[in-house]
Amino acid sequence: VTGGLTAQDKGHLLVVEDDEASRTALTRGLTRHGYSVQDTADGQSALTLCDPQVFDLMILDVGLPDIDGFTVLTKLRHRTDIPVIMLTGRGEEVDRVVGFELGADDYVLKPYSLRELVARVAARLRSHRRGQEPDEADEIQYAQLRLDRRAREVRLDGNRIDLTAREYELLVFLASQPRQVFSREELLERVWGTTYQDPATVTEHVRRVRAKLGGNHGITTLRGVGYRFDP
Ligand code: CA
Repeated sequence: VTGGLTAQDKGHLLVVEDDEASRTALTRGLTRHGYSVQDTADGQSALTLCDPQVFDLMILDVGLPDIDGFTVLTKLRHRTDIPVIMLTGRGEEVDRVVGFELGADDYVLKPYSLRELVARVAARLRSHRRGQEPDEADEIQYAQLRLDRRAREVRLDGNRIDLTAREYELLVFLASQPRQVFSREELLERVWGTTYQDPATVTEHVRRVRAKLGGNHGITTLRGVGYRFDP
C-alpha cells in the first residue's frame, strides 16, 4: 500500500491496549504526531488485524484480557518481523528478557511519557526501514569511548584502539543501539550476516573487544540471553 499522505509516510501503527483511557490517549497522541493509527483492546483481534502488508509497527500491551502480549508476539513472529514495542506495567519488568527472546524490538515501562514512546516508535521504524541496520550516526560517543564511522576508528581517551573489522562492526552494532539486548544468534545474523556459524564465535569476539577496551567496553552479558551495550 503506497500513498502520498503524511500519515502513510510516517507509518501505520496498530495499538493493542485493553485499558480504554490509555488506548484513547495513545491513539490520539500518535495521530497528532502524524501516524495513522488503528487500535484494539485484545490479543486475538490484534492477531486478526495485524496484516504486515498494512501495518508498519505494533505497540503491544503485555497484560491483555484474553491472551497475553507474549503469546500475541510469539504467534505474530511466525508470520512477520514488523517492529513490536511492548508496554509493560510495574512489576512486569522481569519479563523484559522474555519479551526480547520472543522477538520484541523495544520495551516501554508504564507509566510512560507520550514523547518517549513517540521517539521509540520513530527510532524503530527508521531502523526497520533501513533493513534493520542500526541508526547511522557518523559518530557515537559514550564517556571516553568514541566511534568514528567515517574513519572506521575507535578511540578511547583519544587513543586509537586497534580492532579487527569484525570486532569493530560488532562494537558499532551494539553501541548504536544502546540498552537493546541481542542474542548471539541475532548478532551472528546481523553482524556476520550468517546463522550458520557457531555462536561461540560471538562470545570470542566480545571477549576480544572487551580485552582491547579494558574497563570501558560497555558490553554487558545477560547470561543465557545475550549482550547489550550500556553506556
Ligand atoms: Ca493491560
